[in-house]
Amino acid sequence: MTVVIYPGTFDPLTNGHMDIAERAAHLFDEVIVAVAKSAGKSPQFSFEDRLAMCEETFSVFNKVSVDSFDGLLVDYAKSKSAKIILRGLRGATDLDFEFQLSGMNKTLSPTCETLFIKASDTTSSISSSIVREIAAMGGDVSLFVPPAVAMRLK
Ligand code: ADP
Repeated sequence: MTVVIYPGTFDPLTNGHMDIAERAAHLFDEVIVAVAKSAGKSPQFSFEDRLAMCEETFSVFNKVSVDSFDGLLVDYAKSKSAKIILRGLRGATDLDFEFQLSGMNKTLSPTCETLFIKASDTTSSISSSIVREIAAMGGDVSLFVPPAVAMRLK
């Protein structure tokens, strides 16, 4: 049974994140969407809201479960007996940071691999921070986020 961890801040969850989780569910036995408490990143949404939005959205997905973690991702992955960390790649901007992160995680936990799934053309331009900006200016974000998120952003 292959379990993969899909970690993120999900501030908030977008259709881009959903696309990655959904495609991973076709490839692996279980995908754990792991919401980081990320206190250091000062997310706009509270941890409870970010978790609730993921739980509501993924409740209808068969092989996707939602969990949370605080502390080192590699320690969390070990606690779930998962050897694969999944990340999404939108383009060159993501690449540098993701390579650095995966390199450091590999050093911390040599048996843990990071796998990347390329964002779909239809969702690769979506970012949580731009969604937050559009919503703050009163724009309609329902094309970019699942209903549970659009409702809260209203
Ligand atoms: P983090 O703070 O850990 O980067 P994010 O919620 O910003 O958390 O992103 C989680 C993962 O999802 C990252 O690998 C990021 O590159 C990926 N991601 C974010 N938006 C998209 C998108 N539109 N399409 C595909 N992957 C995405």
